[in-house]
Amino acid sequence: MTMQSAAPRAKRILMIGAPGAGKGTQAQLIAQQFGITHIASGDLLRRNIAEGTTIGRTVEQLVNKGELVPDAIIMDMLRKPVLAANAAGGYVLDGFPRTVEQAEAAYRTAGNLGVGVQIAVHLDVPEDELIRRMLARARGADDTVDVIKHRIKVYEEKTRPLLEYYQQRELLIQVNGARPVGEVTWSIVVQLQRAFKQRPAAARTATAPDRAVA
Ligand code: AMP
Repeated sequence: MTMQSAAPRAKRILMIGAPGAGKGTQAQLIAQQFGITHIASGDLLRRNIAEGTTIGRTVEQLVNKGELVPDAIIMDMLRKPVLAANAAGGYVLDGFPRTVEQAEAAYRTAGNLGVGVQIAVHLDVPEDELIRRMLARARGADDTVDVIKHRIKVYEEKTRPLLEYYQQRELLIQVNGARPVGEVTWSIVVQLQRAFKQRPAAARTATAPDRAVA
């Protein structure tokens, strides 16, 4: 499959943010706004755990401790939904890639298929606000104070370097996520529309080295 045959106008957006930054909420709203698919690696993992699948049983302990699960599992789990979403107009990817290694691995496979990420959105929220929000929502076994703090540490160590990775490729949008939901969504939409206008060819040149990232 070449880029030209793989939905050249597909919008491929990536949300980066610490746990509690509002990635899931915003990713869903942005997907609705652009009529594309929301894909959340954490949601897919939690569904596998709830259903007791092989993947679910393999990752349960790691997810509950706030550790990252092995790259190969995530890549296998996401391949089909990402390809399907790309063919259907695009996606907002939430929770993947989580490390520079995942971004590079995804680039090697997704880049060749023309489904690499086009624009990354960083939702910036201060740590005390992250902890407040996560305790308020207490979604599951990975939302206790200790696990929350550990997940933020994992984010700082393993995910934050992704910001520089995308910044260097001029693919990063910065958003202050410590505001009401609607204001944050508005700010993301405005910046995305501007970026898509400035770089209408980005989707078509996604296999070029400076564009084909995931
Ligand atoms: P999230 O809902 O995105 O915060 O993800 C919940 C948990 O799923 C994380 O704490 C990790 O244990 C796991 N997880 C989600 N996405 C990834 C990923 N891309 N790589 C490794 N682990 C992940």
